[in-house]
Amino acid sequence: MTTRFENGIVVTLGSNNRVIWNGSVVTEGETIVGIGNAAEMKQKFPNADSVDCSGKIVLPGFICTHHHFYSTMARGMAIPGEPASNFVEILERLWWKVDRALLDEDITLSAQVPLIECIRNGTTTVIDHHASPGIRHGSLDLIESAVRQAGIRASLCYEVSDRNIPGGGVEENERFIKKIGKGDGQIAAMMGLHASFTLSDKTLERCIGIAKDAGVGCHVHVAEDLADRQDSLDKYGIPVVHRLDKLGASGSKSLFIHCVHVDESEMDIIAATSTCVVHNPESNMNNAVGVTPLFKLLERNILVGLGTDGMSSDMLSQMRCAYLLHRLANQDPRVAFMEAPKLLLQNNADIAERQFGIRLGELAEGRPADMAIMDYQPPTVLSEANFLGHLIFGLVDAVVDTTVCRGKILMQGKKIVSMDEERIAARSRELAPLMWQRLAAL
Ligand SMILES: [Zn+2]
Repeated sequence: MTTRFENGIVVTLGSNNRVIWNGSVVTEGETIVGIGNAAEMKQKFPNADSVDCSGKIVLPGFICTHHHFYSTMARGMAIPGEPASNFVEILERLWWKVDRALLDEDITLSAQVPLIECIRNGTTTVIDHHASPGIRHGSLDLIESAVRQAGIRASLCYEVSDRNIPGGGVEENERFIKKIGKGDGQIAAMMGLHASFTLSDKTLERCIGIAKDAGVGCHVHVAEDLADRQDSLDKYGIPVVHRLDKLGASGSKSLFIHCVHVDESEMDIIAATSTCVVHNPESNMNNAVGVTPLFKLLERNILVGLGTDGMSSDMLSQMRCAYLLHRLANQDPRVAFMEAPKLLLQNNADIAERQFGIRLGELAEGRPADMAIMDYQPPTVLSEANFLGHLIFGLVDAVVDTTVCRGKILMQGKKIVSMDEERIAARSRELAPLMWQRLAAL
């Protein structure tokens, strides 16, 4: 089936970014087959279906390189006990109970809700990090089914940790990696690891061996809080990145999440091994863990992407948060204007390419047909030269009208077509109180 998404302002992004007013993107199956002036595309593809995009801006679908679908049912929950006063207490009192309280249907719903939010925000590719120690076996299959139904792309992994039982989650992760193999462009797999401070050398060696044999990367939280760094120094006499690198977890397909408390020597290792870093500014601010040394990482040409860490599925607001945070942290209004959008628009596409083996984040002939089509009437001129100004100060508040992934329309006229949004939210509201009860008893 061929479809012309026509009469919108098309912003191609990619290395040769073009802004095409009154433009069209033509898709056939999962691929873009034409892009350019609307009248010319109509002439070239006269028999295609058409979707009118006038009053809208057409962008490549957004990519989130670190998410936690499983965190969904914590929303609005009163956390039992005293308020957590530091990062480790937040984990112990909240997240390490949320994951244990999840049952089968909770896992499915916990994925479906943020998948709907991804579609609502034009996020068409996600790299997720899952934990459900109550039900490990088969949990990634439940999430895979939800992702396939939603219609977006996702790289999935199970968060291995010794915190409940030694090597908890290794089998599930290994099973899923073998099942997915090289992947089909929609679903990919990684080796998920919680963090240095909850993983023994033995478990790490086992997981890294599985990852290396399968040719996949490790997806691990790194020095998110000072406690992780201190634990590694106390137990092993070296900081986190040295430890992970020594055991073989670094590499171009691996994702080191956060890297808030890394020193110069650790950044050098990350650079030398071409390991990716994912920055999650909203989460870091929410957990009050500190500020990632973003510019020092970028100076070393480290590939730094942008994730939400489960905070939301809205990549534009995350991008603006990065922009604001690093201006404030550096007390310098000259910085982050180029860097924050680059993390989202370019670096996340580079990271996704290493996971899925396909080039996303660009509207061009032959590229995958993933698009976020947003309501936007530019109040000033919009061109290649000033697109970032519109992105940071205008598009961040614009509403996504239509989301397309792999050539399929997942939302049109702001109505989700691939999933029953109302039923899913209603069922989640039914099950969440039961999950909260189980959690309170832990
Ligand atoms: Zn995380």
